[in-house]
Amino acid sequence: MLNEKMYRLGSARSEIRELFEYGRARKAEIGEENVHDFSLGNPSVPCPDEVSDAMAKLIKEVDPVSLHGYTSAQGDVKVREAIANDIAKRYGVKVCKDDLYLTVGAAAALTCALTALVCPGEEVILLAPFFPEYKVFVERTGAAVSIVMCDEESFEPNAENLRKAINEKTAAVIINSPNNPTGAVYSEECIRAVAKVLEECSNEIGHPIYLIADEPYRELVYDGISVPFIPSYYTNTVVCYSYSKSLSIPGERIGYCLVNPEANDSQRIYAAICGAGRALGFVCAPSLLQKVIPHCLGITSDISVYDENRQLLLTKLTDYGYKAVEPKGAFYLFIKSPIPDAKLFSEIAKKHELLLVPSDSFGYPGYLRISYCVKTEQIERALPAFREAINDALRGDKQ
Ligand code: PLP
Repeated sequence: MLNEKMYRLGSARSEIRELFEYGRARKAEIGEENVHDFSLGNPSVPCPDEVSDAMAKLIKEVDPVSLHGYTSAQGDVKVREAIANDIAKRYGVKVCKDDLYLTVGAAAALTCALTALVCPGEEVILLAPFFPEYKVFVERTGAAVSIVMCDEESFEPNAENLRKAINEKTAAVIINSPNNPTGAVYSEECIRAVAKVLEECSNEIGHPIYLIADEPYRELVYDGISVPFIPSYYTNTVVCYSYSKSLSIPGERIGYCLVNPEANDSQRIYAAICGAGRALGFVCAPSLLQKVIPHCLGITSDISVYDENRQLLLTKLTDYGYKAVEPKGAFYLFIKSPIPDAKLFSEIAKKHELLLVPSDSFGYPGYLRISYCVKTEQIERALPAFREAINDALRGDKQ
């Protein structure tokens, strides 16, 4: 008998993918230049030369049998050593190769961490708005999702609202900064407040509440803002990291889980993550990509285009009457829908060939996400459509 849950997941596309596929079909009909597609978070700048150079060098110089062979399940020892040393140096913390488990991107890091830390019948708290796949990943473990809304002015989590949502079934909280879809970067003060609540509540309920820090956008920040390193604030943390966005290689699938060595029972958590990777059939992260990483530590794609896009969009859209909180990181702008129904506004925008994702699937209705990881010319071409869409919507609202 078919697993109906999986059938439903596989036959219904996510709202983001749905819009992207619509855009693809529309581009084939009316031409690429005439569709203003802001649906997907696919990096638009090429990977740094160091990535391609390392790949070429490895292919040319390393014995192909070892280069393309299986590595240890948790990842090549030398690669893990190099990444651990880099993390230790950057954040002034003591981590070692045995705290790192290499994965096929952040998605796999999240599914491994959740499978390791969460049991059926428990609850995982998501801070809305959130990356929609979290819900899929959590529900697969047999746990339930509990949603806590972030503050509207800052899109930062509100520690007291978090406290109210915690109960004895709470196993973990997923935190994502820099954030998809808002571009918010949580301040040190905010992280401290969240950590305090989690510590107090863990003591009250008598078991640790894990913090899963999903950080694929860690290096994508603007105006020199710094991103607090979560394990330095809360011990029971597992970081889920990915090189997809920082090195513009999302299709290559490489990232890691980092278990804070200071966490209670950190070695047992690490073993459970290895077990989860095994149960999920990941075997090992792609070998070639693993070996590329030590050559690219501390390197990020040129994100100046994202910054230019961010400023252009924010200035122009504010002029047209849109409301948005300035994003400090990632490559998303989260605009308030000019009319209460964001899905309806997304439909109005579509009439102007403008593809914006309504925020309902992010757990925070009334907004739209703009992925500005596109060529700046695409934004310039789309500006009239942005202006016409808001004018249309407001005209319709008055009628
Ligand atoms: N987490 C967030 C917040 C994301 O935006 C994404 C991808 O867009 C992922 C996780 C998955 O990243 P990866 O491609 O590394 O699996």
